[in-house]
Amino acid sequence: MKIIDVITKDIRFPTSKEDTGTDAVHVDCDYSATYVTILTDNKSISGIGLTFTIGKGNDLCCRSIDYFKEFIIGKKITDIEDNINLIWNKITNHSQLRWLGPQKGTTHLAAAAFFNAIWDLICKYYKKPLWRYIIDLDTNVLINKLSFTFIEDAITKEEAANIINNKKKNLPKNIDDLNSTIFPAYTTAAGWLGYSDDKMQTLVKDYLDHGWKYFKIKIGQDIKRDIHRCKLIRRLIGNENKLMVDSNQIWNVQESIENINKLKKFDIMFYEEPTNPDDIIGFKKIKNAIPEIKLATGEMIHNKVMFKQFIENQSLDYCQIDSCRIASINEIIPVLLIASKFNIPVIPHAGGVGLCEYVQHLNLINKFIITNNSFELCEYAESCSEHFVNPAIIKDGGYVTPLEPGYSVRIKESSIKKYDFKSGDFWT
Ligand SMILES: [Mg+2]
Repeated sequence: MKIIDVITKDIRFPTSKEDTGTDAVHVDCDYSATYVTILTDNKSISGIGLTFTIGKGNDLCCRSIDYFKEFIIGKKITDIEDNINLIWNKITNHSQLRWLGPQKGTTHLAAAAFFNAIWDLICKYYKKPLWRYIIDLDTNVLINKLSFTFIEDAITKEEAANIINNKKKNLPKNIDDLNSTIFPAYTTAAGWLGYSDDKMQTLVKDYLDHGWKYFKIKIGQDIKRDIHRCKLIRRLIGNENKLMVDSNQIWNVQESIENINKLKKFDIMFYEEPTNPDDIIGFKKIKNAIPEIKLATGEMIHNKVMFKQFIENQSLDYCQIDSCRIASINEIIPVLLIASKFNIPVIPHAGGVGLCEYVQHLNLINKFIITNNSFELCEYAESCSEHFVNPAIIKDGGYVTPLEPGYSVRIKESSIKKYDFKSGDFWT
């Protein structure tokens, strides 16, 4: 079975109309997907992948992917599977394209979409959901599909293999026993910054009724309003449920320290992205100034080398891996392995378009063959789930294990037809 073409589409959903996704710095998000389809000479099998953006610039990711096609067109799926690390290196270290990164920004988001589609294709070829395909791989075969460049000072391939092999000892004899796993989730969807108090209260009550125990709200534009919202939601959820806040990078280091000191009486489980997402030293300064608080970050950490530094420097307490910011499984699993070695809990970033569908696989890979930390939690926000053929399913406040072959982000044809930014009925 060979690759015959790669098609990209610029899909944009008009979520800004409802204030969905609004936070301190992103005030008018139109949740979007750079949507990749890898066509094969067998019509029944295609690879689907995406990266998530919030509107303008989504076309730039689509355009970048045009430069990657030559590395897979004409190749057999099994050859791509065997050489996926080599192809990953050729694309992320391309001698001309790397000037646009390297391994960050638009080209890296595009690489995420492209490799997400390749992994989807491989898993469909073997008729397995991605999490199961990865767990079933021989450890050394898996390690050789991953990129360890520039992180081997933090974790060697041998250490990585040992972590996986030790975890695999705990797997049940029949792996099908894992199919009924429910992975715990928290919701962000009740507390977007643009929501009124009334809307937030109604949503929080509804989530409580459905068994949710972890809530995150957006803060950061006005500390007086932040205090008011924290007080309100803490009263609604009681002391037994958990509250997290996310200020989406808006404060400088000193403002972060001052504002966190004003909020900590609300028993906040973590403060997400208080300051610039590249400021490894700044995060550490905040932690040093208020040692009793926990910081979370990761959705804008743009590659594995940055994650290495954040984790080794103890600048974060919760690692929020993003399935579409760094370049797919080749780079995500090495970060999960570093987190495991340094005993840092991983709470993947989700919401957006397709992120919940992706992270449900990453949670299970991490839980079953990687993490040495016992804490389990993942973000969930159901934005745009209605557009997916097989959306992530939530039951009792947790993710239901996906069993369909692939990596789960096929968008309905009707949604593509309507929301394609170039030709869709909605935009034209
Ligand atoms: Mg966030």
